[in-house]
Amino acid sequence: MPETEPLNSNTAKSTLPPAGMPVFGASGRKIVYDENGKPCRACNTLLDFQSIAGKKKSVSSSTFAASSGAVAGAAVSAASGFSTIPDDCPPDVEQLGRSTWTLLHSIAATYPEMPTKDQQNNLMNFMTSFSHLYPCFYCADDFRDYIKKEKINVTNRDEFGKWLCNAHNSVNVKLGKPTFDCNLWKERWKDGWKDGRCD
Ligand SMILES: Cc1cc2nc3c(=O)[nH]c(=O)nc-3n(C[C@H](O)[C@H](O)[C@H](O)COP(=O)(O)OP(=O)(O)OC[C@H]3O[C@@H](n4cnc5c(N)ncnc54)[C@H](O)[C@@H]3O)c2cc1C
Repeated sequence: MPETEPLNSNTAKSTLPPAGMPVFGASGRKIVYDENGKPCRACNTLLDFQSIAGKKKSVSSSTFAASSGAVAGAAVSAASGFSTIPDDCPPDVEQLGRSTWTLLHSIAATYPEMPTKDQQNNLMNFMTSFSHLYPCFYCADDFRDYIKKEKINVTNRDEFGKWLCNAHNSVNVKLGKPTFDCNLWKERWKDGWKDGRCD
């Protein structure tokens, strides 16, 4: 086992790899298998998914341990750029994540400044259901843990937008990515940047 866990941090929650199947993918991240022992497409990067199918070289645990740890693994994944998903294929963990954050932050951007009780209930129900339905199961598990600690705030647009931004930052931290300045969430997701480049 490597001393530093790969960044998908799925150790406790994923099933063990079936006999003969790789532990780590080409990026150095641990491969996530579903309850049937199949690699979970929505939980792995395309690069790692392809490495299981033999289209890209996978990495044994000893090779990974010898590298400089989790950040090295992420860097390979992020910098590789040689695995891209054609538009008409199922998403990997990254494409799914980007699309989902776009939807969630856009919901925040259009959520009323003074929501009715009904609108608050709708958003609360949506987010709660979302936390059970998100296709990357270990991401969903962690997200449910997060909302137990940080109660979803549906009071109004700004409160929800900032809550969501903090929730997104908690995933950024887990993945070793920079955090986002939550004072800027409306510029990023609603109004566009002050320099006018979005207009
Ligand atoms: C609920 C949830 C849980 C996830 N859990 C995992 C996980 O456990 N493991 C895993 O590998 N992946 C997980 N993902 C996917 C992961 O968060 C990223 O979406 C994915 O790695 C692609 O990252 P990215 O760098 O393209 O940008 P993303 O993180 O997808 O962000 C998209 C854009 O949002 C903006 N942004 C960034 N941070 C913030 C913020 N805090 N607030 C507002 N805007 C912001 C930036 O402009 C960025 O380009 C999860 C996704 C979701 C929706």
